[in-house]
Amino acid sequence: LPEIALAGRSNVGKSSFINRLINRKNLARTSSKPGKTQTINFYLLNDAFYFVDVPGYGYAKVSKKEREKWGKMMEEYFALRDTLKATALIIDSRHEPTELDQIMYDFLKYYELPVLVIATKIDKVAKGKRQKHLQQVIQTLELEDTDVVIPFSAETGEGKEEAWQQMKDYIQ
Ligand code: GDP
Repeated sequence: LPEIALAGRSNVGKSSFINRLINRKNLARTSSKPGKTQTINFYLLNDAFYFVDVPGYGYAKVSKKEREKWGKMMEEYFALRDTLKATALIIDSRHEPTELDQIMYDFLKYYELPVLVIATKIDKVAKGKRQKHLQQVIQTLELEDTDVVIPFSAETGEGKEEAWQQMKDYIQ
């Protein structure tokens, strides 16, 4: 089955994103404890594709050894993986993308994968400021024309249909 990798710094709303897509409360566990996931988790969606939840990245406090272990795991997964069709990068739409978001975006682009940016928690951004925030995402990450940004809210479900549509296109 095709795969779509799912990346994002911890606590950004990854589990909430998955849960909203499939209308469950707890399939993907949510936790407020950063850095819990240190393995690659696979979630089967609609028997159509796998979401591959790659572990959170860039904890300032982890040791060099831990970071190296993470890098090795990521490379092993990403290198020469022809089932991997695209990646979704979850970012917090309330703030300008962080340096860690930037690093992750560049990492994904290194593998020449299309990146679907999910600008989540959009319900927390005032209507009049949304366009500006989304524009900032495009500029800060220097998104390529083929990349897509979707404003999303796990709270309200905004962006859900668009996200599904985009992912269906990727796994065709
Ligand atoms: P993860 O660690 O990336 O899996 O993050 P979680 O899905 O556990 O979410 C972290 C926190 O952000 C939780 O308290 C969620 O309720 C909250 N959250 C996630 N998505 C949204 C959203 O779209 N809107 C709002 N307002 N809160 C969200």
